[in-house]
Amino acid sequence: MNALLDRYDLTRAAIGAACAEHGREPDKVALLAVSKQQSAAAIRLLAQAGQRDFGENYVQEALGKIKDLQDLTLTWHFIGQLQSNKTRAVAEAFHWVHTVDRTKTAQRLNEQRPHYAPPLQVCIQVKLAEEAPKGGVEPEQVPALAAQIASLPRLRLRGLMCIPPAVEDFDRQYGYFSELARLSASLQQRGLSVDTLSMGMSGDFAAAIAAGSTIVRLGTAIFGARA
Ligand SMILES: *Cc1c(COP(=O)(O)O)cnc(C)c1O
Repeated sequence: MNALLDRYDLTRAAIGAACAEHGREPDKVALLAVSKQQSAAAIRLLAQAGQRDFGENYVQEALGKIKDLQDLTLTWHFIGQLQSNKTRAVAEAFHWVHTVDRTKTAQRLNEQRPHYAPPLQVCIQVKLAEEAPKGGVEPEQVPALAAQIASLPRLRLRGLMCIPPAVEDFDRQYGYFSELARLSASLQQRGLSVDTLSMGMSGDFAAAIAAGSTIVRLGTAIFGARA
């Protein structure tokens, strides 16, 4: 388990180095620890080291861990593909959803978000290339979906999220992330108060930070390779 804490420290140092290199303030780039396939014990260890934000992809797997760890004050982010029959569980158990890409999903989350809870924090997942993993709205459709989400009282639109194709070249990575940053700026010009760019994974977070990321979602860098 010490290896986990070592990787966690190294990861935070790497984020700090990327911020320094690209002129970003470190406290403007949050680290979301992607804990899919990881145990509640590993999450607890990171929580004791100060990590608060955790990302999960699979609803059933996440619900067990959220329950096991309810004595801790953690912020849970849903970052997987969201099926209609799972929206209620997500609306009840998570604080954030990064992967909203349809009007219908937004409506269901709005209806199902419990009234005792604060609004669900929402990012729109944007599809930046055809070869990208499934999910995401086309860039042209982002303004309409953003306006719809902003009008729903139980949701709070926070910004945009992307999973670009896995390429190794920094400049190509930067190109995708810059496109998301431009889309975000165009929403701000339309008067929408978005403040979040959820972009950057273990293989491309430095380029994402250079392009303006405010949340990097890192699994492998912290926990090691998944099975
Ligand atoms: C798994 C996953 C991550 C983390 O990926 P790593 O390459 O392990 O850092 C980030 N975002 C999403 C949406 C994921 O599904």
